Formats: sequence, structure tokens, C-alpha cells
Amino acid sequence: MSTRTRFAIATGAAGALGALAVAATRTGRNVGTQIGGIPDGDRLTRMQRSRQWRDGRFRNRDRRAGDTPAADSIGARDVARRFLIERPQRGPNAPVPLASEGVELPTEGLHFSWLGHASVLVSLGGERLLFDPVWSERCSPSPHVGPRRLHAIPCDLSDLPPLRAVVISHDHYDHLDMETIRSIHELQPVCEFVVPLGVGAHLERWGVEPRNTIELDWDECHRVGSIELTAVACQHFSGRGLHRNNTLWSSWAARSPAGSVYFSGDTGYFSGFEELRDAYGPFDVAFMAIGMYDPAWRAMHLNPEEAVQAGLELGAGLLAPIHWCTFALAPHAWSDPPERFVTAAEEAGVAYVIPLVGQPVAVAEPPRTKPWWRP
Ligand SMILES: [Zn+2]
Repeated sequence: MSTRTRFAIATGAAGALGALAVAATRTGRNVGTQIGGIPDGDRLTRMQRSRQWRDGRFRNRDRRAGDTPAADSIGARDVARRFLIERPQRGPNAPVPLASEGVELPTEGLHFSWLGHASVLVSLGGERLLFDPVWSERCSPSPHVGPRRLHAIPCDLSDLPPLRAVVISHDHYDHLDMETIRSIHELQPVCEFVVPLGVGAHLERWGVEPRNTIELDWDECHRVGSIELTAVACQHFSGRGLHRNNTLWSSWAARSPAGSVYFSGDTGYFSGFEELRDAYGPFDVAFMAIGMYDPAWRAMHLNPEEAVQAGLELGAGLLAPIHWCTFALAPHAWSDPPERFVTAAEEAGVAYVIPLVGQPVAVAEPPRTKPWWRP
């Protein structure tokens, strides 16, 4: 493993990707486009009116959470120690099995297909949303450096059915991928991109038509077809390069006559989940981030037990884990998130499903989970 990769792990996933961006810039590679745009003009004025904006940047509601993962040297040393001394197995022992059914989901009811990491295709009565699509080989500003995929993509972007909207949780590289966004915009020119405040600046820089981009603050809603999409509160941070927290981070609620969905994006455990249930739930299915946690950045990422607890507070009928398997961005072992999640979900008596990557799931009749991640 390269020194740079070790450094990446030691400094924390997203912070490291920002560091990579800076390092790549210093070595002369033009990564400016990957880093994205800087909000200004009317976009910035709207951001400044947000309740989430304080003293020149977006902030978490709970001030104790801070605005970045543990950036202090003790936190970073701690992560490095866990990685270097405990030496967890950060990748799969065998090739990750992929489902071969394809991504055509039935047009009646609520169905989904988890496409790796935080990428999820959801069909609500045949109207499709795609959350946080990342198809690139690496989640990084550089094609040569940075965390690499641990399994193949489950389908080509050109195989995706027509999408109502691509929904983005925040601008970190493992959730917002420039190449993927550009390709979808080219392949599906009427597809809308629904994003948190400020993220539109990146899309604009990448050539997405402004009329295709909808930017929302928390508790703001946009209708696509019969789906009501609402950006909802979470606890995290943002940034693709030198700028931190000048775009908003968000979880999402999607409701239609066919069902209701919660998508966590990246969030730490915070006090707002019951409030979200009361305002936008109950949810038929909640996509919960269960991986890339570490004690050093606990405020910013749920661990598996917290994901189950948050799912209970959200009143979700079914929990579907995301944010593990595809990229190794934290020191924990590759299979720890599903193992810990299953134990916690069984103890709590909540319904859950961990499908294969690419496997279509009917939310009303989820398949029994087989531990396919075990060697
Ligand atoms: Zn993130």
C-alpha cells in the first residue's frame, strides 16, 4: 500500500480526498474541474439566507458535533494507530458477487436496487430516482490516486432505465462523481438533478444545464412526477478541495402514492430522527449508511448499531444498509459493517435486507438476507 493511501486513511476519508485534491494540484495535474464550482451571485445569496448558514459557511445544528471530523492530531494519530497496528482486512477475500437480473424494476409498488456504496436506484410506481450515483473506478479527484472500487459496476449507465431525477446527498467524492453526472446528463437530457444548496455550483461547472438542477435547503420540497422529494436534516460536512462546508449536506425523504423512502446519505447520529419520522414518515424503507465509521469521526458517520437505532427512531418498515462494500475509506474491516448491523438489527427485532449489489428488491416482499459477504 502506498504512503499516500496510508496517509489518506490516517486523515479520514473525506478530509483525505480533499488532501488528495490539493496534492494532485501541487503535482501539476489539473483537477480544478473535478473540485467543482464555488457558489456566488444569487446562489450564494440564497445560501446565506439558510438557517443552516452561520459565519460564512454551513454548520451542523448541534454545535457539539463540530463542522469537520476530528481534525486534531490526536484524532488522526488514533485512526493511524487503528489502521497500522490492528491491520484489519479492508477488502473482500473473494470477488464480490453481483446480481445478474439487471436494473429493470417493476412499475407497480416500491422497489429498489442497491448499486454499491451509496448508489441506490428506487422505483416508486415506475417513477425512478437514482441516489448518489458513483460509477468511476476511484472516488477521488484523480484517476490515478485514491480509493479504488472493490467490485465491478453492476451495470452500464446506458443500461439504466429513464430516471425522473438523480438525487445527491452532498459533494464528497464517494457521493458526487463528476464523470457519472456528466454521462447521465448526456444520456438522459431531461433527467433532473436534485441537490442540497450550493452543490449546483459544481454541476454548473461540469456543464449541467441550469434548468436541470434543483437546489434545496433542509425541509424544502420539489415534486418530480408524483414524487415529493424533500431535503432533510442530517449531521455531516462537505467539501471537495480547499473549501469546507460551502455547500450543504442532506438526507432525503421521497414520498409518492407508491410508498415512502428515507435516504441517509452520510450522517452521524443526532437527535433529529424522530422529528423526521413525524414530519415525513413513516417510511416503508430507510437506506442507512452503516460503514466508514471510526471513533475519531463519530459525529459525522453512523456506526452499524447507531444506524439500527436511527432506523427505529425513523419508524422505518425495512432497513437497507448502504455505504460499505465498494470503497474502503475507513480503518474498519470490510465485513464489519454488515456483521455488526445484522447483530444489532436482530437484537432490535427490525426488518432488514442486505441484497447483493444490483439485486432488485420488492420492499413489500424483501428476500431473506444470506450472508454473502462471508468467505
Ligand atoms: Zn461524506
